[in-house]
Amino acid sequence: MRVLKFGGTSVANAENMNKVVAIVKRALSEDSAIVVVSALGGTTDVLIDTVKSASLRDESFKTKLSALEKRHLQVVKELMPVDQQSSTLSLVKRHFNEIENICEGVFLLQELSPRTLDNVVAYGELLSSLILSAKLTSLKMTHQWMDSREVITTNSNFGNAAVDFDITNKSVKKCVTDGNKKLFLFPGFISSDANKVTTTLGRGGSDYTAAIIAAATGAKVLEIWTDVSGMMTADPRLVSNAKVIPNISYSEAMELSHFGAKVIYPPTIQPVMEKNIHILVKNTFAPADE
Ligand code: ASP
Repeated sequence: MRVLKFGGTSVANAENMNKVVAIVKRALSEDSAIVVVSALGGTTDVLIDTVKSASLRDESFKTKLSALEKRHLQVVKELMPVDQQSSTLSLVKRHFNEIENICEGVFLLQELSPRTLDNVVAYGELLSSLILSAKLTSLKMTHQWMDSREVITTNSNFGNAAVDFDITNKSVKKCVTDGNKKLFLFPGFISSDANKVTTTLGRGGSDYTAAIIAAATGAKVLEIWTDVSGMMTADPRLVSNAKVIPNISYSEAMELSHFGAKVIYPPTIQPVMEKNIHILVKNTFAPADE
């Protein structure tokens, strides 16, 4: 069993999602796989900005939301065969209607709690994973989409919730064993508290979702698919001769991520370190045989 996590850039548009599908296909030819995805690149920021505008009685939340909806609909149109688009298009519209209803409430009350914010941002990963799931179905790639909120249980610290590993490890394991599939698909970042209220694991938390699932299922490898080929010696945007580190120990990875290396979200390291799971940082956009 292998866990593959795809970040926001990897699922930012239809072209990139097609690359993801090809990578998943290749992985499946060797082993069973669990795929974890972020929201379409930039979506979480837009959702936060949208609902914050609503809380300030700024009507612009409507145009922001409709632009984000258009972007998601466009991805579906480019990704899916024409005769199989309609159910996914209506699914996307239904979700955006729900977001709009929540934003209307926030607008009227001029009040935005961390709990409501989590409720809104969760739609990013729900949408990206459901769109990818529809694509896999259209290709007859049998899989099971799982709502991470059903299996990852946290406390109620909205925005940066702490995982209850006793409950979570059991439920992740059970869902993967009971599911008896070669391929599972989970939205990253989202979870729920003991009352089944939606929580999130902190910005960048999809890596953490993947690590939690890898540790709970005893996966051998956790692959973080992103837009660089490994952890780097320095931030490539600041240091022009930054080098990729091909092999990195867990403790070095942890150190680097604490120093701000953006490739892996820091809490990700702990669960996989305890289980001795190998972390590979891979480039979604590099040629297949790199
Ligand atoms: N979408 C979330 C964020 O932008 C989580 C993630 O991508 O890891 O923070």
